Amino acid sequence: MGALCKKCRERAQIKLPRHNASFCQKHFKEYFFKQVEKAIKKEKMISPGERVLIAVSGGKDSLVLWDVLRELGYRADGLYVNLGIGDYSDRSEETCIRFASSRSANLYTISLPAFTGGAGIREISRKVRRKACAACGMIKRYLFNRFSWEMGYGVAATGHNLDDEAATLLGNLIGWKEDYLSRQAPVMPSNHPRMVRKVKPLFRVTEKETAACAVMSGIGYIYEECPLARGARSTVYKNTLNYLEQHSPGAKQQLFYNFLQKGRPGFLQKREDVQLQSCSRCGQPTATETCAVCQMLEKIGAPPLSLSEGGAVKQKAGEALAP
Ligand code: SF4
Ligand SMILES: [Zn+2]
Ligand SMILES: [Zn+2]
Repeated sequence: MGALCKKCRERAQIKLPRHNASFCQKHFKEYFFKQVEKAIKKEKMISPGERVLIAVSGGKDSLVLWDVLRELGYRADGLYVNLGIGDYSDRSEETCIRFASSRSANLYTISLPAFTGGAGIREISRKVRRKACAACGMIKRYLFNRFSWEMGYGVAATGHNLDDEAATLLGNLIGWKEDYLSRQAPVMPSNHPRMVRKVKPLFRVTEKETAACAVMSGIGYIYEECPLARGARSTVYKNTLNYLEQHSPGAKQQLFYNFLQKGRPGFLQKREDVQLQSCSRCGQPTATETCAVCQMLEKIGAPPLSLSEGGAVKQKAGEALAP
């Protein structure tokens, strides 16, 4: 006989060895929503009534996050950044638009090539001689923060799940990157007037659980990986942790939760706080005179970025988008 739901004793749809439990569809979703709500409340991520902007990529994590937050009653809108990575970017954008339309949710889209004279991540990384993911991460974080701030959002959320966080932690531990270890947290408070608080409400749920939630909620997401992701080290760390988890259920959460509780405070104490200043070109927070993104744009011969010009920002679906 198959496993039974822990709550209602009906046939279970999913087994969660780390909780020593199985759930039917209804009770799995109840469990999933509770975990997200617990993360938000316990870590004081979103204040009542606060508007939250979610960075959506078309993948399962960000779309599930958006769906769950809306279902839980949060005022959540989405931001998609088209990075100009060929058809992959266009397909991801279409996926986000389809999701937003299906839920009458507010989605903004930004086109990176519209700011760079047509250059996407591949071309930019070549010109600035950086790895694609390094350049891309920097640009995405910059646009996400700047757009959130310019549009008056107090908090910005990403779909990082427990697998992502545990893999990042493992990488940071192996390299003993004290500065990164002091910064790895489900909530990053603002430390500059133009910096928006960043939160990760999915840090208590795994990748597998998020995928199950997407399927059970009828969310169509993009399965293919970014073509520039090849050989990412994070995949090796994730596979290693999955192996551990198979043999010792709960290992992933133990690693990450123990770090948050017992490890991170020590790294925080040691951290030398860098006083952030405003970029001389764009006004965004930076530790240097000109921020890394302005430096990149300068190198590729693009003008300083202005979100209000050139029709690079578009609004799709949903109702009124005014703050
Ligand atoms: S895999 Fe790398 S290049 Fe592709 S979207 Fe992610 S960070 Fe950007
Ligand atoms: Zn049940
Ligand atoms: Zn700048």
